[in-house]
Amino acid sequence: MRYDVVVIGAGMVGTAAAWHLQKNGSKVLMLDRKLPGLETSYGNAGLIQREAIHTHPFPRQITEMVRVLPNQGTDIRYRIPALLRYHQALLQYWKFSTPDSVKKIESEWQTLIAHCTSEHQTMIEASGADELITRDGWLQLHRSEETLKKAAKTAIEDCEQGVEHKVLSLDELKAMEPNANFEGFVGAIHWLNSWQVSNPSALVKAYAKNFQEMKGTIKESNVKEIRPSDDNDSKGWQVVTDKETYHSDHLVIAAGPWSNELIKPLGYNLPLFPMRGYHQHFKISDKNTIHHSMFDMDKGFVMGPMQQGIRITTGAEMTTMDAPKNFGQLKTVLKLASKILPLEDAVESEAWAGSRPCMPDMKPVIGPADKHDKLWFAFGHSHQGFTLGPITGRLVEELIHDKPLTVDVKPFNAQRFAKKQSLNYNI
Ligand SMILES: Cc1cc2nc3c(=O)[nH]c(=O)nc-3n(C[C@H](O)[C@H](O)[C@H](O)COP(=O)(O)OP(=O)(O)OC[C@H]3O[C@@H](n4cnc5c(N)ncnc54)[C@H](O)[C@@H]3O)c2cc1C
Repeated sequence: MRYDVVVIGAGMVGTAAAWHLQKNGSKVLMLDRKLPGLETSYGNAGLIQREAIHTHPFPRQITEMVRVLPNQGTDIRYRIPALLRYHQALLQYWKFSTPDSVKKIESEWQTLIAHCTSEHQTMIEASGADELITRDGWLQLHRSEETLKKAAKTAIEDCEQGVEHKVLSLDELKAMEPNANFEGFVGAIHWLNSWQVSNPSALVKAYAKNFQEMKGTIKESNVKEIRPSDDNDSKGWQVVTDKETYHSDHLVIAAGPWSNELIKPLGYNLPLFPMRGYHQHFKISDKNTIHHSMFDMDKGFVMGPMQQGIRITTGAEMTTMDAPKNFGQLKTVLKLASKILPLEDAVESEAWAGSRPCMPDMKPVIGPADKHDKLWFAFGHSHQGFTLGPITGRLVEELIHDKPLTVDVKPFNAQRFAKKQSLNYNI
């Protein structure tokens, strides 16, 4: 059977793209080797981050580099094979992380973030997924007056961008989460208009189910090859899977951290690199119930109330996709987390690990491929792909259906890494 569009990847990004396309009249096939929402979009911290208007630059200050160097941090760790494999992308990341460059990147990034909650809301309503969402913000905990003051100052500036917050004293924080032990903390920022999802995978599944209700097709297949169709009458795409070959007019690559592997044989080589994170759940009891996700700002981990239990999520580990799990960072995080909340019974015997798909300039790739017609890219959303899936999906639909765009996608084009192109960044 021929489809108007094949979308590869049923994470938050691919599912949202498939949903928007199907809703707007295309006949869509979404392919994934697993069921929807079982990879990175499963294991994240479940925050729809309206406050995330700042990116995560590479540390450039000497003090910050010295802090990271011993490789014992809870927020970031690195493995030598990954530094070697991704050295070019990391060098670019470092170059893009100058203050002037970050300022420009953030102004572009913010055009996407501005739509995150409203775009999720449209899909939540359509798929009846409201019970998974809490619209009461999340808490950014601070251990030092200095970091709290700095964050509060930035938060005031961020109001102009539509970000709402409240600075909480230690007493106010204790009143909000009476089961937590906030010894060692001085206060928090309560991000008011960000949302929390109690089961990120279930939200992707709800969107995917709604896509099927609109007569969209999902198939569980491993894509082995994509190739331009050689049939002159109907130029388009052939998608070869372990089971069947599918034909479509358009092809969307939304395979998260695996996207580059799929497009490399076609002559693309984007500097996509993975940043791994781990999580583990702990059974919820009367003693450890919390109502908000809490991010320990100074140590870089999240504790969130999920359907599966309290989910403890680590910061980033710069490692290769195929590297075995290394639980060192998680172990240190769990020691810190269990001082805040009693974490007695682990739900899983082994922690989950998954990789954020990252680009050196901290922006996703959204738009047409430059070497082939009707090939579209939607990946590289790094720390906020769960947040930005729906707006990305809408943009992919608008591009394919040649409609006016909700957001200018030029800053997210795939050609920005082409060697000869002037990048127009102060690097
Ligand atoms: C620990 C952690 C915490 C995070 N917290 C947050 C958060 O709170 N908020 C937020 O917004 N973001 C968060 N993120 C980031 C977010 O999870 C990712 O950016 C997002 O899930 C990426 O979605 P995706 O659809 O691009 O990729 P994925 O969810 O990884 O989906 C890609 C899909 O492609 C499929 N695929 C790949 N190759 C093939 C192939 N050859 N054939 C068939 N299928 C294929 C995979 O099976 C997969 O299902 C976090 C990430 C981590 C790791």
